[in-house]
Amino acid sequence: MSARILVVDDVETNVRLLEAKLTIEYYDALTCGDGLTAIALAIAEQPDLILLDVMMPGMDGFETCRRLKDEPKTRHIPVVLVTALDGRHDRIRGLEAGADDFLTKPLDDVILMARVRSLTRLKMVMDELREREESGRRVGVDTAGVARLKGSGGRVLVVDDNALQAAKVAQELAVEHRPLVEADPVAALEAARGAVDLMIINVTSEGFDGLRLIAQARSKEPTRRLPILALVDAQDRPRLLKALDLGANDILTRPVDPEELSARVRTQVRRKRYGDFLREKLDHSLEMAVTDALTGLHNRRYMTNQLQALVARTNRGSEPVAVLVLDIDHFKAVNDGFGHDAGDEVLREFSVRLATNVRAVDLPCRFGGEEFVVVMPGTTLEDAHRIAERIRRDVGAAPFRVMDGKAHLNITVSVGVAATTGADDTPESLLKRADEGVYEAKASGRNKVVARAA
Ligand code: GH3
Ligand code: MG
Ligand code: MG
Repeated sequence: MSARILVVDDVETNVRLLEAKLTIEYYDALTCGDGLTAIALAIAEQPDLILLDVMMPGMDGFETCRRLKDEPKTRHIPVVLVTALDGRHDRIRGLEAGADDFLTKPLDDVILMARVRSLTRLKMVMDELREREESGRRVGVDTAGVARLKGSGGRVLVVDDNALQAAKVAQELAVEHRPLVEADPVAALEAARGAVDLMIINVTSEGFDGLRLIAQARSKEPTRRLPILALVDAQDRPRLLKALDLGANDILTRPVDPEELSARVRTQVRRKRYGDFLREKLDHSLEMAVTDALTGLHNRRYMTNQLQALVARTNRGSEPVAVLVLDIDHFKAVNDGFGHDAGDEVLREFSVRLATNVRAVDLPCRFGGEEFVVVMPGTTLEDAHRIAERIRRDVGAAPFRVMDGKAHLNITVSVGVAATTGADDTPESLLKRADEGVYEAKASGRNKVVARAA
């Protein structure tokens, strides 16, 4: 699907011109003539990129940009400010308003398209992360931290064999970041594997090929997502375009303007942290979604999904599935006698004994409270019974050591066993039979295994 681009300009002919250029390159263009409409459109239409004119009556581009970046529904959309002014001051104001890039009129078509390409590509990666974050939020993960992400204090790796220039850039960066200079590309790639937020590569270096370094960084896993700022000569358009094509996130032209350097670095560092934040949340939320926090075993939700799939397979004629339902005996007495924390310790130790007594393909999980379930693919009722016996014996064999050894508790477990019989089994019917087994085990004195044939 082609990317959708929102073009905002108060001059109708500018809008039409840009629209035509984008359409020729197979982008879908949305257009409007003022800031407020732009914000409303951006919220409603969720474009992949916004090309925003700076000089507009009413709300100007800076203010529009600031609002777009404040609005949670649009802050992830890259904004490129477009203006007739070539003032350095405006560039910096634009970047400080949160703009992702800045282009001056008359627009250079080739550079425009290179920027559009690189920003829409980045947007796609971010979208995927955001989507997954959304599902994370649904399972209750807090994402409020996004607003606190800063663009300062970044670890910035400057790769440049021009010692004088590198020192100058590093000195300027040191005001709000932690720069690190490397003149050798191999050492730089090594250093970039660590905790680095941004790499600035001098593409005009004489001792190494900066473009090649960009490509190498992009192709290696540890540096694939690391933002890269390419330092190029303003007149050297071919190299500038090549740098963007190879995956540089932004361009800085020589001689380096300190304020522009600072604004562009801040934008990249903030973006890197946003990506890291989403990724971290994602890993965490995925883990939260499948594991039980107290024991580290799979949780009920995960088990239910797996069991569903396995039973469906069995009903189509595949191998049998067995389940164990395990319920700790008189567990309430542990809590009552030794406290809830001691109870938790027992649950953890029980989980260890459970997990170590089943095969790698089995899924031990905490069903809730002091109830556990093991799902066993490819296992008959008889085999499951044998494994349940082994678990029961192991739980009762040695006392559970709790409260730093202040107490040793004798714990036993009652287990119900069930297995699929052929057709028409459901996860519910299977668990119900195993549950009946537990009930029978409890009724007949506890510390027992009862298998229930259908
Ligand atoms: P039975 O032999 O019949 O299974 O008796 P029981 O005491 O094990 O069963 P009951 O269902 O009466 O009590 C279970 C107790 O487990 C009650 C509840 O407070 C406790 N419990 C549930 N979840 C947790 C937990 O996460 N930690 C602790 N420490 N206790 C829990
Ligand atoms: Mg119990
Ligand atoms: Mg119980």
